[in-house]
Amino acid sequence: MIGQTLTDQPLHVVVASRNPGKAAELRRLLRGVSWRLLELDQAPGGHAVAWVEDGATYLANATIKAEAVAAGTGLPALADDSGLEVGALGGWPGLQTARWMGEGATPDQLLRGLVERISALSPGRRRATFVCALALVIPPDHGPDAGLFVTESRLDGTLVTEPRGRGGFGYDPIFIPHGEQRTMAEMSQAHKDEISHRALAARQLLGQLR
Ligand code: IMP
Repeated sequence: MIGQTLTDQPLHVVVASRNPGKAAELRRLLRGVSWRLLELDQAPGGHAVAWVEDGATYLANATIKAEAVAAGTGLPALADDSGLEVGALGGWPGLQTARWMGEGATPDQLLRGLVERISALSPGRRRATFVCALALVIPPDHGPDAGLFVTESRLDGTLVTEPRGRGGFGYDPIFIPHGEQRTMAEMSQAHKDEISHRALAARQLLGQLR
């Protein structure tokens, strides 16, 4: 559409994630954009879309998800691949953050498992980084707007071994961003949406599209 940026168009964009915490954050972070965001299972053919996250980077995995969902639904698709890297553990669990305990592990089991692993580290060695990669695929039938748009952001912080707070999701109860006193599960949703790895990545992505 001539004269309009992608973010001003009333596109139907499928959020390529079955993680409700992530999908809710992405929806909030994209509130100012003219798109209608669809849950994966609401999109035509969305429930049948499957993918294998076997990329070597977060960006590769986000792209795999967005391309699979765009191909399966015929609609623009936005995917997030994220992870937590513990410096003293060589960046582990990194790309395996959601899967290091096996495919069926619950968020609570993952949280407790990670607490167990980091408890062996002295407090000064519990620095960690959250990473978020975003990939937006606009399918070929969108003419000159079609393409792949990607971005990645990181947020440094420290892990604690006593989970605190009820907000957010995943590992939020044990992650304190640098410069903050509260875990990401203790801070308000609005504050997490200002400073998180996902918020930074979303702002960068929108900057590319405008
Ligand atoms: P994936 O991107 O689906 O591979 O999963 C990312 C993993 O990192 C999941 O275990 C999430 O719970 C966790 N994760 C991603 N983003 C956040 C966040 O903002 N807070 C807490 N945990 C997160």
